[in-house]
Amino acid sequence: MEKKEVYDRFSEILADMQHIIDETTLMQATLNTLIEENAELTIENEHLRSQIMNKKTAKIQPRLSRSRENLRKLYESGFHICNASYGRRLEDGESCLECLDIIYGS
Ligand SMILES: [Zn+2]
Repeated sequence: MEKKEVYDRFSEILADMQHIIDETTLMQATLNTLIEENAELTIENEHLRSQIMNKKTAKIQPRLSRSRENLRKLYESGFHICNASYGRRLEDGESCLECLDIIYGS
């Protein structure tokens, strides 16, 4: 190979390498943007999921009136609030349909 050919080939290879470096730099910038967008979307997704869960929970347990809320607390602390057994302790694991109807019924 002539000296000039070697020099020209070397210049070509240098140009190719510079092109690869430029492409790689551009890809790195794109990747950084995608990582940032992904992090933002992940946070937004979690936020939306928690909003949906809150709405579902709100639908399952509509807000109780103050008096029903007090009765619920009494029942949750282990006492009947129904007419038949008012004030009597609930057995472990016992639930009372009459009490639940007074708290959650229409
Ligand atoms: Zn009861």
